Amino acid sequence: MQRQAHDAHELPVVIVGGGPVGMTAAAWLVQEGTPVVLVEAEPVPKTDWRASTFHAATLELLELIGITAPMHDEGLVVPVYHFRDRRAGLVAEFDFTLLSDETRYPYRLQLNQQHLVRMLYERLAGADGVELLYGTRATGVAADGDGVRVEVRDTSGTRTLRGSHLIGADGPGSTVRQSLGIGFDGHTYPERFLIASTTVDLSGQIPGLADVNYVADPHQWLFILRTPESWRTVWPVPADQSAEEATRPDRLQEQLQGLAPYPGGYPIVDHQIYRVHQRVASTFRRGNVALIGDAAHINSPMGGVGLNSGIHDAVDIARRVVRIRAGDDPEAELDAFAGIRRQVAVEYVQADTQRNTERLKETDERRRRAMHDEMRSIAADPDRSRDYMRRVSLLESVRRFGVGLPPEQDPQAAAAPPG
Ligand SMILES: Cc1cc2nc3c(=O)[nH]c(=O)nc-3n(C[C@H](O)[C@H](O)[C@H](O)COP(=O)(O)OP(=O)(O)OC[C@H]3O[C@@H](n4cnc5c(N)ncnc54)[C@H](O)[C@@H]3O)c2cc1C
Repeated sequence: MQRQAHDAHELPVVIVGGGPVGMTAAAWLVQEGTPVVLVEAEPVPKTDWRASTFHAATLELLELIGITAPMHDEGLVVPVYHFRDRRAGLVAEFDFTLLSDETRYPYRLQLNQQHLVRMLYERLAGADGVELLYGTRATGVAADGDGVRVEVRDTSGTRTLRGSHLIGADGPGSTVRQSLGIGFDGHTYPERFLIASTTVDLSGQIPGLADVNYVADPHQWLFILRTPESWRTVWPVPADQSAEEATRPDRLQEQLQGLAPYPGGYPIVDHQIYRVHQRVASTFRRGNVALIGDAAHINSPMGGVGLNSGIHDAVDIARRVVRIRAGDDPEAELDAFAGIRRQVAVEYVQADTQRNTERLKETDERRRRAMHDEMRSIAADPDRSRDYMRRVSLLESVRRFGVGLPPEQDPQAAAAPPG
């Protein structure tokens, strides 16, 4: 039995999924000298435009693997964001610089997620102790004594990889989660979200617009956000409208022209339509298998915290796996991971993104006005505003639970149920 444990710890950690979350876990483990095999179904790192917000707590963690500085070379520093109303205009302005005494990064850094993946890929490609298996799909997983076995398929056929631990970072449709029969309860919004990006500077078209704006409206709420490449707008597509209809060039143009007329037409450089869910895995851990990122929790993009919390999951599990492989108590560490990260997903990420989304689309006039008053009064009070921004930037959850602290150092860890 002892011998088996020794053997398992000589095996690499297998990570399934080379998105931003799996790549962060890989980079962290490799920096700590832990061998990694990363399995990614796509033949090359994905380049599609998706999440683009990095909050203070995440930048603090990525600094520890030397990625925050290059992200700043390419990203856009955004200290202020607006809560607006489509009819009434600006409702409340929130200024992250109120957090300057607590973090070196009192702002949102806007950078499309594929750039983080590229930076991590450049770090990992050719590094010692890491094998990157692109074009390789995990098809099933099983516990193997005190290690794991992962079935994979590539163009040459199927084979089995063995690892000491498996980190499932394979996104919302996670094969790892499904192979283990772990539930993914929650709900799917009836409307889909449509993203259309233009190179026109929308702050030049809409007076007073901030670089990040959440715009409430009972019929067509909006999310307008600037990234280094473009201005992104997001709006809802009703359940009864087809994707083809919603994404017709004249429809997209009509939507943007409805924000501010732009003679000659907006150049639209990207558009995507997607379903949005609020779901959390019933447990984040089974044996030596951990679920992180979208494989463990998915949510509305309102607030830009889903990817951020996924990166926190990645650092949390990586720190624990390093300690387990050095001899620390595996059960206490993995239970602490599962308990804390699930609690953060439910109490912060799900709760806040759900609330942010409901706030934008509220149709009851009385409740709308009350919400606007509430946002105004938070913004007007520096103490409440500071508390609010600590929460929305995930600093509060990170200060409360830490990220991957040894179980005995955090009383909350012992209190949190594992799943
Ligand atoms: C269109 C779109 C727009 C979005 N916009 C926003 C936004 O504005 N703000 C926001 O906060 N979030 C947004 N999100 C969500 C955000 O992109 C995710 O939270 C983030 O990508 C999660 O990263 P991840 O690494 O956990 O998962 P993913 O990025 O999904 O990466 C998972 C990886 O696993 C690979 N994989 C899957 N199955 C297997 C398998 N069986 N074997 C091997 N590899 C596998 C996939 O190819 C993929 O590379 C958006 C998502 C989409 C789809």
